[in-house]
Amino acid sequence: MKIAILSRNKNLYSTRRLKEAGENLGHEVDIIDTLHCYMDISSNRPTVRFKGEALPHYDAVIPRIGASVTFYGTAVVRQFEMMGTFSINESVAISRSRDKLRSMQLLSRKGIGMPRTGFAHHPDRIDDLIKNVGGAPVVIKLLEGTQGIGVVLADTQKAAESIIEAFMGLNANILVQEYIKEAGGADIRCLVVGGKVVAAMKRQAAAGEFRSNLHRGGSASLVRLSPEERKTAIDAAKTMGLNMCGVDILRSNNGPVVMEVNSSPGLEGIESATGKDVAGMIIEFLAKNAKPNNTKTRGK
Ligand code: ADP
Ligand code: GLU
Repeated sequence: MKIAILSRNKNLYSTRRLKEAGENLGHEVDIIDTLHCYMDISSNRPTVRFKGEALPHYDAVIPRIGASVTFYGTAVVRQFEMMGTFSINESVAISRSRDKLRSMQLLSRKGIGMPRTGFAHHPDRIDDLIKNVGGAPVVIKLLEGTQGIGVVLADTQKAAESIIEAFMGLNANILVQEYIKEAGGADIRCLVVGGKVVAAMKRQAAAGEFRSNLHRGGSASLVRLSPEERKTAIDAAKTMGLNMCGVDILRSNNGPVVMEVNSSPGLEGIESATGKDVAGMIIEFLAKNAKPNNTKTRGK
């Protein structure tokens, strides 16, 4: 197979590991900087150009599209789809997963467990917004945040109201969520490839912190999933239409609840916590599934 990894930085752990795993399994792997691709979108023979030349045909692409380049990155993936190249995650599914509100609406429609969540932009009745998810303590999130930044725990109704007012002043979209206290500052990252959980780790927040992000000082360890947790992760991936993703789950008193589905999950934390060759499993999935025009939506 000829595989392209769309990545802005060839030195990133995940990018390096995917290239190495692909080559070890006998495939040809190129790393292509997404933002340097350009295309003639009016041509009836779709191509992607790079450094003055049309790129050759690839059997598969692995998009590693950072949140800040979703718009351009998904257009590049769409172009590959139009050329009949199989993308491990389709452009439509990547766009869907990047919109947190749309994702949560889709997951809830399918009956997948999630924390009670409200969202708002400029509510007239902040007290009602908070009451509606069960009252304080609540977690308030800036929709555009990542790595735990813009995620605040408000212990009291008063604190929650002032935080929401402050966020409203920034003209931001706000998410208000029931605080899953019983999760004890831990969440579970499930790595799903091809409809199976291939690796899972527990991330525990540092002392005095409720956010378990590794960037916020959290630490990772092995975890054994319950059948219900496994099913929740698989259902979430399927609902989002992602062949490869990270599903973040909290252990609540009402069973597993999904917080987020990430279409470009990092491999470093999960490979070192579990000792598993996740990159190799991703390549093996491609080897089985990357047939010409096997992309469902072909960019539509
Ligand atoms: P980001 O996308 O920026 O990582 P998250 O929504 O995943 O933000 O929140 C960061 C961390 O905060 C989570 O990994 C989890 O540990 C904790 N957290 C988030 N929401 C809740 C909640 N409703 N109840 C308990 N803990 C939460
Ligand atoms: N192109 C897809 C459709 O119209 C979009 C669906 C979606 O994004 O959820 O079916």
